[in-house]
Amino acid sequence: MFTIYRQKRIAAFLAVLLIVACVGCGRAAVPSATPSPEQIVIVSETTAPTAATTPLPPPQLRYIFLFIGDGMGYAQVQAAEDALAAAGRESLCFTNFPIAGSAHTANVDGEVTDSAAAATAIATGKKTVNGYLGLDESQNRLIDLSETLRDTGKKIGILTTVSLDHATPAGFYAHVDSRRSYAMIADDLFASGFDFFAGGGFHDTPDAAQRAAENGYALIHSFEEAPAGGGSLILSSSLIFGDYGVLPAIDGGAREDWLKKATELAIARLTDPTGFFMMVEGGRIDYFCHYNDAGSFIAELLDFDEAVQSALAFYEQHPSETLIVVTADHETGLVSFTEGDRAALLRQTISCDLCDDTLVAACVSAQTPFEEALPLFLSAFGLSDLTAEETAYLETAYAHTLKGDLPGSTANEEYGVYDPITSACAALVAARAGLVFGSGAHSALDVPVYAIGPGSEFFAGTYENTALHDAFLQATAAYPVP
Ligand SMILES: [Zn+2]
Repeated sequence: MFTIYRQKRIAAFLAVLLIVACVGCGRAAVPSATPSPEQIVIVSETTAPTAATTPLPPPQLRYIFLFIGDGMGYAQVQAAEDALAAAGRESLCFTNFPIAGSAHTANVDGEVTDSAAAATAIATGKKTVNGYLGLDESQNRLIDLSETLRDTGKKIGILTTVSLDHATPAGFYAHVDSRRSYAMIADDLFASGFDFFAGGGFHDTPDAAQRAAENGYALIHSFEEAPAGGGSLILSSSLIFGDYGVLPAIDGGAREDWLKKATELAIARLTDPTGFFMMVEGGRIDYFCHYNDAGSFIAELLDFDEAVQSALAFYEQHPSETLIVVTADHETGLVSFTEGDRAALLRQTISCDLCDDTLVAACVSAQTPFEEALPLFLSAFGLSDLTAEETAYLETAYAHTLKGDLPGSTANEEYGVYDPITSACAALVAARAGLVFGSGAHSALDVPVYAIGPGSEFFAGTYENTALHDAFLQATAAYPVP
């Protein structure tokens, strides 16, 4: 499918020239995919007189960013875009990228994929069964894109907001037949020879500090501890959520801008003449879509976009050397829309998890009456001007919360996976926003691909997710670094 893109490559080369001419112009300068005739004429006029003496060097693809929003289908992106527009805020940075593609995500058996099979497809160019990492369906070891690029001398970074040994990051360094084999996944991480890891801890590696030291890594738990100079680094965040991953973006505090800071730390440490490849995952968009917490998944997506903005700022400094690709491994929650005030998604200020752990726990322990509790929940979820029907809905849910009289399965069926009052507030936010969850699982929907920079032309079109791997290799071959 990509062999037909030679002509497009020429167009893209002209686009790159345009970008070179536009360095410093900021986000407004992001070029359209196909330069207009006028634009091309301008390029010729401005570059032709000096071309004989000082020709612009051809693009060399040094720096490669792959951003994966876990569970970020088209609807998740639209929800965020609609909410930002409704609130009068600037759109996501990556939806302005000049190249758009669309990837089909089914696993090797044509089933709905999990994150392990999807990461393996993107990283190796081969579909596999759910749960496998870096192995085909017959358990043959596959070569990851990150390993191939490591062997060409590029520095490699793997960043995620979930745990370091979670399926998506592990898909870029591990070769095991179960995504739950956390100890074996950690073995592969320490043996990878990659230069930078950042994420929310390990599941099953109590001796991580010792293992890191034995394998030449400095292991740190916060940005402040980052050692000066070079050297391989593992940032295993201490801002742990439950048993894995960094805290939810919506809950703010020390978690604020974590993925953006991690991306900027990786850029600072990995930038060198042979270049880098980094995979950056917004890992918790998926989690909150599973649990139908709309406000929280939007916050994760905006947090992910901030990390992409850091890559875009780097791109603007190195436009003829930097490729940024933003995509997803699958859609989660079968999200669709009806009419509504999408800005309601931005007014929620607490994750359902934190609400259960703090507000609900305090109200239950004090047996706070509904009239006193209601304003606290409304404020946390950004809700106001309730109808009588909405108030009655929350009052019934809260009565169940105080009494604890619904068995788990009934509460799940009637309200959702969280405590009844928490689930009811989240459901009200989604209803007011006109956002509908069709399930709490992954779906078979295609996912979007956005690309900018030299080689981005290989990401245009509609294809299987395995083609993403091939496109990265075609891009590096088309714009080699001498
Ligand atoms: Zn998932």
